[in-house]
Amino acid sequence: MSDANDAAFARARAALPGGVNSPVRAYGSVGGTPRFLVSARGPYVTDVGGREYVDLVASWGPALLGHAHPEVVAAVQAAAAHGLSFGASTPAETELAELVSARLGDASGIEKLRLVSTGTEATMTAIRLARGATGRDLVVKFAGHYHGHSDGLLAEAGSGVATQGLPGSAGVPAPIAAQTLVLPYNDLDAVRAAFAAHPGRIAAVITEAAGANAGVLAPEPGFNRSLRELARAEGALLILDEVLTGFRVGPAGWWGLEGADEGWAPDLFTFGKVVGGGMPLAALGGSAVLMDHLAPLGPVYQAGTLSGNPLAVAAGLATLRLADADAYARIDAASALVGGWVSEALTAEGVAHVIPRASSLFSIAFREGAVREYADAKAQEAWRYPPFFHALLDAGVSAPPSVFEAWFLTAAHDDAALDRIRAALPTAARAAAA
Ligand code: PLP
Repeated sequence: MSDANDAAFARARAALPGGVNSPVRAYGSVGGTPRFLVSARGPYVTDVGGREYVDLVASWGPALLGHAHPEVVAAVQAAAAHGLSFGASTPAETELAELVSARLGDASGIEKLRLVSTGTEATMTAIRLARGATGRDLVVKFAGHYHGHSDGLLAEAGSGVATQGLPGSAGVPAPIAAQTLVLPYNDLDAVRAAFAAHPGRIAAVITEAAGANAGVLAPEPGFNRSLRELARAEGALLILDEVLTGFRVGPAGWWGLEGADEGWAPDLFTFGKVVGGGMPLAALGGSAVLMDHLAPLGPVYQAGTLSGNPLAVAAGLATLRLADADAYARIDAASALVGGWVSEALTAEGVAHVIPRASSLFSIAFREGAVREYADAKAQEAWRYPPFFHALLDAGVSAPPSVFEAWFLTAAHDDAALDRIRAALPTAARAAAA
């Protein structure tokens, strides 16, 4: 443990609630002192004490190409030289919207996008748009899915809410929480029952394209397509939240791996993380008819001082242009290797586990049997994760500081980085077995 991290954390705790600006960074569920980072490059991050780690967090997804890719940094620097923020439209925003639409293609139904700054805003706006367009109030979400921290979407949410074992958040008025129906994931009967119980009242079903915020919870084959059909039959919209999966699991996100082949598309997509290349940028997109309900054309209000920020747009454009088939192939291969090594190491120590997977995303669940829904993810020996995590950290490998988070590989994880991960795993597995 570096004294420099202890000192940084002590100082931060006096100035910031919990010493952090986003809860999971506090290491609450793994204990110990969070590493305070000062730089990152490729597959590595460096803490305030000068120690380098192979990073498996990737800024929670955005660092698809690895940290500080030189061409992305150059694009941001070039944009910065022309001004940090104008509060007016720029041609590059249109370019990014066109690039996203083109990458998903006509079958996605995306004709227009609205750029925002965070995934939270993207899903919050998508919900408001769905309500505005349908004239209905209720929203269906799935337990263990995380769609950001807007009031109505925190019920039984994944990510930090799951890490802290919270049912939701204080400060959300009961009448607002009551507008969200939380259902078990991968359970179509529950969805049918909700529609039957609230005829004509459900505005939208929102789902992570593939669940990855309660550990990885992959949709069962046909689940997303059936959601599409059920929602349409009931006059509700389907919002596919690709904030985490979009442009990460493939060039056209999870939908590109599934919906494009199966011939279905949601009414609205939400994007974040990779689309901003590590800068604050997110988006929602859909048909022109639907998107034109947004102000200034329509009555559904949404705005943002920094929306479409030129630096963020430059980072997003550069990242998407560099995210070619080769980059995804490298990530897929690295993820297959690391997930396999994790499993081998735990098996060698006799630790019961499964590795839930959704394309290149995976996590560890210390249990036997498949993880289909949030209740399964919670029913595991989660106490095995902190010693596992800390053994990796001691060996210079920074895994996500919660068992309920996915592991993120990048296109920059080369042999040297992968070797370090592999070498660290037997000791970590021994710690998990203890
Ligand atoms: N939706 C999903 C699926 C996410 O994983 C996240 C964040 O992890 C969000 C929405 C919220 O995004 P942000 O943290 O940028 O507000």
